[in-house]
Amino acid sequence: MNTDRIKRLDKLFDAFSVIAEGNYVYVCDMREDLSRWSQNAVDYFDLPDVYIFDAGSVWEECIHPDDRKVYRESIEKIFKGEDLGHDMQYRALAGDGNYVICTCRGVVITDDDGIPEYFAGSIRNHGSLSYIDTITGLRSLYGFFDDIKTMLRKKSSSAVIMIGTKGFSSVNDVYGYSFGNKVLINLSAAIVEKFSSIGTVYRLDGTKFAVISSSMDTDMLADIYHSLQEYVSHDLYIDGERVSISLNAGLIAADDFEIGHETLYSCLKYAYYESKDRHLGELVIFEDSLSGDDRHFIEQINTIRSSIVNDCEGFYLCYQPIINAASGTLRGAEALIRWRNDRYGSVSPVRFIPILEQDILFPELGKWIMRQAMTECRKLLHKYPDFRLNINISYAQLEKRDFIYDVFSIIRETGYPKENLCFEMTERCRLLDKSILRNTFDVFRQHKIKIAIDDFGTGFASIGVLRDFKVDTVKIDREYVKNITTSVADQNTVSFISSLADAFSADVCVEGVEDESIRDCLVKYKIKGLQGYYYSKPVVIGDFCDRYL
Ligand code: C2E
Ligand code: CA
Ligand code: CA
Repeated sequence: MNTDRIKRLDKLFDAFSVIAEGNYVYVCDMREDLSRWSQNAVDYFDLPDVYIFDAGSVWEECIHPDDRKVYRESIEKIFKGEDLGHDMQYRALAGDGNYVICTCRGVVITDDDGIPEYFAGSIRNHGSLSYIDTITGLRSLYGFFDDIKTMLRKKSSSAVIMIGTKGFSSVNDVYGYSFGNKVLINLSAAIVEKFSSIGTVYRLDGTKFAVISSSMDTDMLADIYHSLQEYVSHDLYIDGERVSISLNAGLIAADDFEIGHETLYSCLKYAYYESKDRHLGELVIFEDSLSGDDRHFIEQINTIRSSIVNDCEGFYLCYQPIINAASGTLRGAEALIRWRNDRYGSVSPVRFIPILEQDILFPELGKWIMRQAMTECRKLLHKYPDFRLNINISYAQLEKRDFIYDVFSIIRETGYPKENLCFEMTERCRLLDKSILRNTFDVFRQHKIKIAIDDFGTGFASIGVLRDFKVDTVKIDREYVKNITTSVADQNTVSFISSLADAFSADVCVEGVEDESIRDCLVKYKIKGLQGYYYSKPVVIGDFCDRYL
């Protein structure tokens, strides 16, 4: 074959590869019917070579028999000049014998006379993730992501609802999995019946479902959800047996937002978990659940989210001293995250942490926080060998399998001593798998890393947490401290918590010490650490060192 044409084929192939972004690339010289394919496609699908004659037929062999007809028709049309491209999805057989879902997009490039000359495109390997959920027959999480991407790109006004069950695992425990599956099928049928006239229903992970609704009428959607709740808690029968299911739901109305689909998903999950954890399953609407009236808050979240990808640009840490109650000297500091940029100024972590905690990127930010804090605080150790650096850890970080590994590699990388480290976790971590959590805590204890329970008294399972996991420090929330000089109830609570902590051999740190009178009141109790504006607001490391070094 003509070597110039091969060179040209290679050139085109290289050009397409530049923009392939991890997809496989193919370029077919339609006159010679010679194609060039990406090496990684050749390896993955066990193709004969990167140069393939009659690739249409060779590739067809890899395609699932049920999907071949559509594929063949499309290729025939392209070679006959009847079609100038394709955009299709099919299953293809990988070298390991499993089918994967592929999206194949191709375009025809014509010569000066308008005759098809090349057919080039990319194949995206979605792995074995299926677009259809096998149990319910609904579109899956994967289809959901594709559809919200399209929705955001087209800026079509839609409401997205996430609906899930409460305590479904007990259905499986009591009745077994196959009964559990029947319940899910019935639940999905009920959701479809209620919502299908106004949108598409999806099965997400676990027992969560979603609806993308073309209607933005949130009152109407709340009414439909309410009638669904009524139905599944009173009128759901499986094999003649009545099963009562409680639901939770979050909603976000996406109206002309400049955001990515991951941001939308994080905000939706946030509303959903608010419904689950704080609103007894009532429908929580994303913007309503925030105190701010800023309509474009979600775009701000999108920007903060992009900063994480951008090497955590815009984030910085402040440190607030923790003082020894007995001696009044420095005991340590809590690292507190901040974010700022030119457009939005400085944004409080109270605004973005609870939402980003739901985000797959959060562990990345968590690692940055640990690395930054350990690097910045090392210089304090010469003067304060017992200095304790407190770092807030979100349950989403703990949940990640490589959390322990990350902690130790950051310790190694920064040279910060393990025994001068304390992780603050909220009671929310009790929602995680107990054995994993206990294992994590055990590993930390073996390495003399301290653990504090943060915001103690504001959650639901305070005593249980102390009993189940050995912790070093209990941090009493500001709520119990701010009125302590006048409120006998708060005095009793602080006294009670400090005795309780003592019973579990934990020491106590109190937050929100705003003035001398609060401090004077607190020193009467068995309290080891004091933290609050009376001593210092959180400040950047330079200011912290100016004061204490
Ligand atoms: P938190 O862990 O309970 O942190 C203590 C908060 O109380 C800080 O707010 C601190 O500035 C504030 N504070 C301290 N002393 C006083 C006082 O005397 N009076 C008053 N009114 N407030 C006081 P901040 O820095 O805005 O952080 C808010 C929350 O954001 C934190 O609550 C924590 O839940 C979260 N957060 C902050 N940094 C991080 C982080 O690095 N990682 C994670 N996962 N969460 C973080
Ligand atoms: Ca904290
Ligand atoms: Ca707190």
